[in-house]
Amino acid sequence: MIKAQIPEIKALLSSPKNIVIVPHKNPDGDAMGSTLGLYHYLKMYNHNATVIAPNDYPDFLKWLPGDDTVLKFESQQEDSKTLINNADLLFTLDFNAFHRAGDDMAEVMEASNATKFMIDHHQQPDDYAKYTYSDVSMSSTCEMVYNFIEMLGDTDKIDATIATCLYVGIMTDTGSFRFPATTSKTHFVIGNLIEKGANNSEIHNNIFDTNSYSRLQLLGRAMQNLKVIPELRTAYISLSQAELDEFNFKKGDTEGFVNYALSLKGIIFAAIFIESQQDQIIKISLRSKGTFSVNEFSRAHFHGGGHTNAAGGRSEADMQTTIDKFISILPTYKQELSQ
Ligand code: 5GP
Ligand code: MN
Repeated sequence: MIKAQIPEIKALLSSPKNIVIVPHKNPDGDAMGSTLGLYHYLKMYNHNATVIAPNDYPDFLKWLPGDDTVLKFESQQEDSKTLINNADLLFTLDFNAFHRAGDDMAEVMEASNATKFMIDHHQQPDDYAKYTYSDVSMSSTCEMVYNFIEMLGDTDKIDATIATCLYVGIMTDTGSFRFPATTSKTHFVIGNLIEKGANNSEIHNNIFDTNSYSRLQLLGRAMQNLKVIPELRTAYISLSQAELDEFNFKKGDTEGFVNYALSLKGIIFAAIFIESQQDQIIKISLRSKGTFSVNEFSRAHFHGGGHTNAAGGRSEADMQTTIDKFISILPTYKQELSQ
């Protein structure tokens, strides 16, 4: 989305519309924060807006203002389809290709006649939206929603509710303001959101200090399973379905585990492999430091993608085969990994 399109968008938003707002599948803090932040903003203009998440998300996000209005496509297909089919405007947030909402939902969105918007910071965005605001340098989609509201000349409309939602995604996607995409503008936006009423300490507590005992025990197991390949500055973790079951795994419990592997001195590439019996896959999260692109690595080997320093992927082989494949690929990146 270029600034030149803003008057057109303003005109579109000047009368009440049916609007659907969609985050990616397995929504994280940035996905739910950005969609709900935009939702509350659009509601101020009396739009008939609804957030439809492809599927459920972790409990630590369920306190977000407006959470009770969110539909889940997976369990509310008929209502979701009706809303998407009747939408005038469709906002897709925090993802860059329809399939990231899951194949079923992607099909419905693709077929819809709604005017499409993309607001996203992932690399290599697809070109499906009439209005694309894509910026891979951005810390988070939440920061971009703030910018979007700013471009519309409406920062004075940001209240404590919107501020709370947007704060969540900036905080989670920046690893609490420590990842390199955190800029002075990010801090400026965060400062403004606090000014508008976001309670920073309470939000941090709601997201990070609501651990269950079993989650910490699962973290303990993950740390026991941590393996290091020092000569390639790589570390990885695995968790089998049996281990997840042993510790009463709930959605979101493994969030952030991979960062412990990356925190090892000298390590610049970290992976976690998590078995999902339900999906019949090994889910993979990849993280790096510096210029080694886990986005490219995941695209090349594990059907995924994301950002330079954080990406996801999957494998349809079993755990051991997947890890063996991972280990066997690594030496081809020897030069980049030993830099
Ligand atoms: P996570 O490892 O936390 O699931 O994902 C890390 C980052 O990569 C997030 O920004 C997430 O949206 C993105 N991501 C995860 N899986 C995929 C994928 O399969 N494809 C793409 N393009 N991005 C992904
Ligand atoms: Mn994001």
